[in-house]
Amino acid sequence: MTIQEIVKRSLQEIRTRGLQLTPEIYNEIFCRHARRSNVILEECHKLDTYLKRLSPEIRKNVESRQVSTVDQLVQYLGSEIMRCDSDRSLEVIQAYVLLVKRLLQAIAMLHNKNAAEMAEKDRRKISPYLEKSAIDEIREHWNRFVMEYDESFLKKLAPYCDIETDDLETMVRELVKVLKNREKGEEQDYSLVAQVLTAALVPSIASGMNDEIATVSAQIRANPELLTSQAMVEDIRYMIKKRIELDKKAVSTQMTELDSIIEHINQALIRVITSGETNYDAICKIQGELDEVDLQHDSFQVIHTKLLAVANSLETETRLLSEEMKQSREEISELRQKVRVLEEALRKERKRSSTDTLTKLPNRRAIDDFIKKQEASYKRYKDDYSIVLFDIDHFKSVNDTYGHDAGDVVLASFGKMLRRYSREVDFVGRWGGEEFLVVLPKTGKEGAKVFAEKLRDLVARSKFMYKGTRIPITVSGGVEDRKSSGNLEEMLKRADENLYLAKEGGRNKIVA
Ligand code: GH3
Ligand code: MG
Ligand code: MG
Repeated sequence: MTIQEIVKRSLQEIRTRGLQLTPEIYNEIFCRHARRSNVILEECHKLDTYLKRLSPEIRKNVESRQVSTVDQLVQYLGSEIMRCDSDRSLEVIQAYVLLVKRLLQAIAMLHNKNAAEMAEKDRRKISPYLEKSAIDEIREHWNRFVMEYDESFLKKLAPYCDIETDDLETMVRELVKVLKNREKGEEQDYSLVAQVLTAALVPSIASGMNDEIATVSAQIRANPELLTSQAMVEDIRYMIKKRIELDKKAVSTQMTELDSIIEHINQALIRVITSGETNYDAICKIQGELDEVDLQHDSFQVIHTKLLAVANSLETETRLLSEEMKQSREEISELRQKVRVLEEALRKERKRSSTDTLTKLPNRRAIDDFIKKQEASYKRYKDDYSIVLFDIDHFKSVNDTYGHDAGDVVLASFGKMLRRYSREVDFVGRWGGEEFLVVLPKTGKEGAKVFAEKLRDLVARSKFMYKGTRIPITVSGGVEDRKSSGNLEEMLKRADENLYLAKEGGRNKIVA
C-alpha cells in the first residue's frame, strides 16, 4: 500500500466516524493504518523514541497507563510533575550525578591503573536512572578497592627521596633532583654509595628513626663527599646498628602479637572441637579463612588482619556454641527434673501397692504395717497376739518336677486355703517366696498352734491339682506369740527358728 492510499483511508475513516480533522486525530488514525499495512514511518514511532529515553521505572508506569500517543505521554508527564515536586528532586539527583561523574573523572586521572579503569567504567555507567542494585554494586567495588589498596610500593622509593603519600608531585620532583645529581658524573660513585647507605638506614620493619635518617641522608645527598669523613662514618655505623636493633624489636613485638592471636585461635578451636557439638559449616568457614593466611607472602599487617578475622569468627562461633550448650544443658536439667518427679511418683506408687500379684494376698510391706498396728495395741493394752510362719516343704522340687507354672498355682491355692480357714480378724500375707505369715490378734501361743496344726493337716490331706495331675503338698510352720518375746523383731526371729526346727524335725510339722 502506498502512502497516498494510507492518507486516503485515514481521511475516509475520519469522515465516516464524524471526527474532527485535527493534527492529533489525523496522526493517530494515519499511524494506525500505516502499522496495519506494515509501513514503517518515522513520525509514527516518536512515542517509542521518547519512551526509550525515560527511566525504566517511569517507562513501566507509562505503559501500565496505556499511553499510546505522544500527546498522552506529555499529559502523563505533566500530571506527574504536578503531583510531586519532581523538579527539585530531579535537580538534586542531576547535581549528584554530575558530582559523582566529576569525582570519577578525577580518580580516572590519578596514577593508579586499577582505580583509573574502574572510575572510567563507572563514570560511563552513572546516570540519574540507575537501579539501586547497580548503585550498590558500584559502591561495593569501590569499598573493596579502598580496603585492599596497598601503597607500600611507595616505600621502594625511600632510598632516593622522602616519601610523601599525600603529595606525589613534590616527591617525584625531589626524586628527579636526586637522579640528576647522580648523572653529574664525578660525584657519581659517592652518590650511589650514599643512596645505598641511606636505604640501609631506613628500618625495613620498624618505623622509628625517621627524623635522624632524614637529616643524615639529606646531608649525604647534598654532599656525598661527607662519606669520607670519619665522623660521618661513625654516625652511619651507629645508625645502622640502631636500625637493626629497632627492626629486631619490631619483629619480636609483631611475633608476640601474632603468637597471642594464634594462641587465642587455638584455644577457641579446641573449645569448638571438644564441645562435641561441632558446627561443620562454621569450622569449614574458619578453616577457609585460615587457609587464606599466607605466612610467606603476606605482610605483617595483612596476616594480622586476616588472623584477627579468624579469631573473630571463632569468637562468634564459640559464643553461639556456648549459648546452644547452655540451652541444651537447661533442657537436660529440665528433663532430669521431670525424671526425678516421675521416679518419685513411681516410688510412692510402689510403696502404696500392698498386694502380692500372684496370690492377691497382702505383701510383706502390708504385713509389716499390720504388725506395727498390733504392736501399738500390744504396748497400750497388753493385747497379746501370735504369728505363724508357714513354709511349703520341698517347694523347689515342686517347681523342678511339675514346672514353675504349677508352683505358682500351688502358691495361689495355698494362699486361698489360708485365707479361707483363718478368722476374719486374722491377717494372712505372703512373706516372700513360698513363705506365708499369719498374724492372729488377741491370740496366744496355744491358740495359734491349734490354728497352725489345723492348716498343716488340711494341706496334707488336700488335693493340689495342676493340669489334671495331683501334686502332693505339705507345709511346716513356726509359731510364736508376742508375750514370750522382748520385742517384735525377737518374735519374728523365734518364729523363724521354730520353722527351722520343724524342717529339721522332718517337715509337715508345726513347732511352737
Ligand atoms: P524346704 O522344704 O527346706 O523349705 O525346701 P524348699 O525347696 O521349699 O525351700 P527352698 O528355700 O530351697 O526353695 C524355695 C523355692 O521356692 C525356690 C524358689 O524358686 C521357689 N519360689 C519362690 N517364689 C516362687 C514363686 O513365686 N513361684 C514359684 N513357682 N516358685 C517360687
Ligand atoms: Mg523357704
Ligand atoms: Mg520351702
